[in-house]
Amino acid sequence: MTTTDRRRFLQGAAALPAGFALASGASRAATPAGRADLVVTGATILTMSPAEPVAQALAVRGDRLLAVGRDEDCLAYADRGTRVIDGRGLTVTPGFIDAHSHPLLAQEAIGVNVNLRSIRDVQQALARKAAETPPGHWVRGVMYDDTKFVEERPLDRRDIDAAVADRPVIVRHRGGHTAVVNSKAFELAGVGPDTPDPFGGRYFRENGELTGKVAEHAMDVFFEVGTWPVMDRDTWRVSAAIATRDMAKQGITSTTDAYGSRDEFLAYRDAYDAGELSCRIAFMPGGNSEMFAALKEAGIASGFGDAMLSIGAVKYSADGSASERTMSMSTPYAGDPDNYGILTMTQEQIDEAVDDAVAHGFRVGIHANGDVAIDRVLKAYERVLADHDGPNPRHRIEHCSLVNDELLRRIKAAGVVPTPFYTYIYYHGEKWSAYGDEKMRSMFAHRSFLDHGIPVAPASDFTPGPYEPMMAIQSMVTRTDSRGRIWGPNQRVTVDEALRICTVHGAYASFEEDVKGSLEPGKLADFAMLGADPRRVDPLALIDVPVVRTVMGGRVTHEA
Ligand SMILES: [Zn+2]
Repeated sequence: MTTTDRRRFLQGAAALPAGFALASGASRAATPAGRADLVVTGATILTMSPAEPVAQALAVRGDRLLAVGRDEDCLAYADRGTRVIDGRGLTVTPGFIDAHSHPLLAQEAIGVNVNLRSIRDVQQALARKAAETPPGHWVRGVMYDDTKFVEERPLDRRDIDAAVADRPVIVRHRGGHTAVVNSKAFELAGVGPDTPDPFGGRYFRENGELTGKVAEHAMDVFFEVGTWPVMDRDTWRVSAAIATRDMAKQGITSTTDAYGSRDEFLAYRDAYDAGELSCRIAFMPGGNSEMFAALKEAGIASGFGDAMLSIGAVKYSADGSASERTMSMSTPYAGDPDNYGILTMTQEQIDEAVDDAVAHGFRVGIHANGDVAIDRVLKAYERVLADHDGPNPRHRIEHCSLVNDELLRRIKAAGVVPTPFYTYIYYHGEKWSAYGDEKMRSMFAHRSFLDHGIPVAPASDFTPGPYEPMMAIQSMVTRTDSRGRIWGPNQRVTVDEALRICTVHGAYASFEEDVKGSLEPGKLADFAMLGADPRRVDPLALIDVPVVRTVMGGRVTHEA
């Protein structure tokens, strides 16, 4: 669809009846015919198609696969204008899909990246940023991780005060659910040691003093005071181009923005129009955003859009975070007997959100990490599904981290798609002792989901988690963290299963299994070319398998 067509299409949407949903992948075509633009030969092609699981060659015309099979079958479509890539020694997989990510969350354009390994380095970075920030304006640190410092302790209010005292500073955890602020920030917001915690939030205290750490809804008050940096539309567009280009380098051809507002949507749309979008985007509007209200008003619902940019499920968040240890559980955190985590929505709020979304033709995706939150979200889904007629709407539970047999049975019965973190075991290992070995046997439970016949989706939750699919596959296959510690080995999956999760299941999660997730004639020409066969390398070295080339819709989006 051309830019003008799509604009007209989006504008025309206002005239559609409420609840009208156009299937994504609007240009679903029959198998194309004629000359191939691109042919790959001599490769090991893991098609994920039961009809022909391993092929040697593929041919592409436009954005679609023309043929998948033997060299001679595909070369038959080649002529002088066809680019032929020698795939000898390379393994081709369907393009990797990330079903839950926040590509634009870091906003490095207006903040300073503090994904650093010492508190001193963070202080210096904040001081540098403060020096170029006008008085009264917020200094933002992004991508903070409390467990990765050589000092072996988290950042606190005093650390930031020592670096920046005269301007408000907020250092946001890469997980998105907590932050550390300085004394100036508390002063501006009027928060003191005796200020009560708001519902669904916490000002952390030690010996009656604020530590600087704030969680969930306790962050809200800071966004209402002082002057915040703004991103202009061009900066947003460039951010979308850079974020999706970086993802393409890792073999990703489709990702999901799992909580978007108008700024994010325009960023993707502008990058798309400029030919700068390197991944397909399933856009999940934030349930509390003005954009969601506008979409409902316009009669736009889940599935609307095209194969590059489509509207996914509406997103809500019912509890805290796994990596920041605030998720809501029925049993306490290890060594912290009074800490059961934080719920951020009441059952009534969840029920209302689900009713409203379903009434407007939306699928629902609710963030629920702990077993308590998962139970609440399932209750809301079970209630609306009792009145539901027709195909499975595939409501989602975002993260769905801590499960048990009862929850697994209910997830299966409700046809719900869980999206557990796929790189967390490997990348966030130092955080799992807060849960303990017993809980880790039931967390990020890819094996249990598969065993229950649940189409578990691939999810990085970038920025909280890294999105590299090869790291994800190693993480799911070995359940071993980067320091060699093993967490919940009962949840291991095979390399074949991990590949299937990252491709076929990713397509299922966005209702696009008929256009992507496997390499078959007529489907989108989305694939990754790897320097080694993941099925043949040491599982602890999967992370080192290089992505040599990525192709999305027949276009090369990455070439090493
Ligand atoms: Zn998320």
